[in-house]
Amino acid sequence: MATLSPILKQATPVVVDRAAGSWIYATDGKKYLDFTTGIGVTSTGHCHPDVVAAAREQVGKIVHAQYTTVMHKPLLQLTEKLGEFLPAGLDSVFYATTGAEAVEASIRLARMATGRPNIISFHGGFHGRTVGAASLTTAGTKFRSGFAPIMGGVNISPFPHAYRYGWDEDTAVAFALKELDHLLQTISTPADTAGFIIEPVLGDGGYIPTPPAFLEGLRERADRHGIVFIVDEVQAGVGRTGKFWGHDWADVRPDIVITAKGLASGYPISAIAAPTALMAKAWPGSQGGTYGGNAVAAAAGVATLEVIDRENLVSNARDKGKELRAGLENLQPDFAVIGNVRGRGLMQGVEFTTAAGTPDSATALAVQQAAVGAELLLLTCGPYGNVIRIIPPLNVTSDEIQSGLSRFRQALKTATT
Ligand code: PMP
Repeated sequence: MATLSPILKQATPVVVDRAAGSWIYATDGKKYLDFTTGIGVTSTGHCHPDVVAAAREQVGKIVHAQYTTVMHKPLLQLTEKLGEFLPAGLDSVFYATTGAEAVEASIRLARMATGRPNIISFHGGFHGRTVGAASLTTAGTKFRSGFAPIMGGVNISPFPHAYRYGWDEDTAVAFALKELDHLLQTISTPADTAGFIIEPVLGDGGYIPTPPAFLEGLRERADRHGIVFIVDEVQAGVGRTGKFWGHDWADVRPDIVITAKGLASGYPISAIAAPTALMAKAWPGSQGGTYGGNAVAAAAGVATLEVIDRENLVSNARDKGKELRAGLENLQPDFAVIGNVRGRGLMQGVEFTTAAGTPDSATALAVQQAAVGAELLLLTCGPYGNVIRIIPPLNVTSDEIQSGLSRFRQALKTATT
């Protein structure tokens, strides 16, 4: 008899029977409030009726219309719909299945378009687990340790992490830009540097919004040096932060946007968007994959974007995000273990620290486990595992936010007394 590998680190013992909206109904008969959304994926909630209907209809038409062999309608429709949300000028799109694949595709594209070898990513970034994506990732030990050598040509520059350094944001940004300039002067000169890749909010690295001035500084350097500016919107995109793209909080236009996760409410599809002129610099056929742009996933993607539009889910994410944030900040005076609360929209992180101010992963884990007891599903993140991330669906209600906050308070009490 086979069993599931211990290589999978299981966050909860819950076995799902079915789910709807913000709720998971488990085989143990319990009903859990799901503030994990499958790691920020089920953007329109579990089994939104419109997404279910679109997927059901497509399953009966064609499931696998391999899109470099025959084109299919859902992908054309998705491209048209996604185009309504893409930054001006990013008018060319292709598809893959996962976030990591899309990251790899963006690196391949930046290298081919510039003829340069190196990529610069930033401390605490998470870009995926495949070898290329893992080489860009520094969000935690387990993502890269033990399987070196990883992809070459990657340099990692400091992230402006004001809280960690104990600085104000301007100081952190000035420091990180100075270090980046130094790296461009000494280790990876512009002539050798194909791209910068960054998340608009560090996800697995601890739910830390990237300061707008830092993104703007990267844009300016990318322009000055002919470097491709890649924004990894896999976790922060599609309305999650209360604007459609996480980078919309800054005054920048990326050269490449990568999206996945929330794009199709749980059906696996990712997209890479760039100006046609940039895409045209790569060889036709240099990108693609058997399962990329799956027809059912694309149909679910179209339905997802329509629901986000019709139900005003981006502004709901902003409003409910404010409510969630205010509730989390209210907890801070009662629980000294909470060192920092931060995030944007419905992407909020609570960092746990000891009295000495060092990362407290034991408490974060105890709170996450106690939350399961309070029938609230949460995840941890951060390089030290001491951050709880809260990622409700974009259509979460005020009642659900309040219920989540009271369950969270209960879990904090259980874990700290
Ligand atoms: N980039 C970011 C910002 C992510 O959050 C993730 C997934 N957590 C990925 C890339 C990788 O996506 P996937 O797990 O679908 O490969």
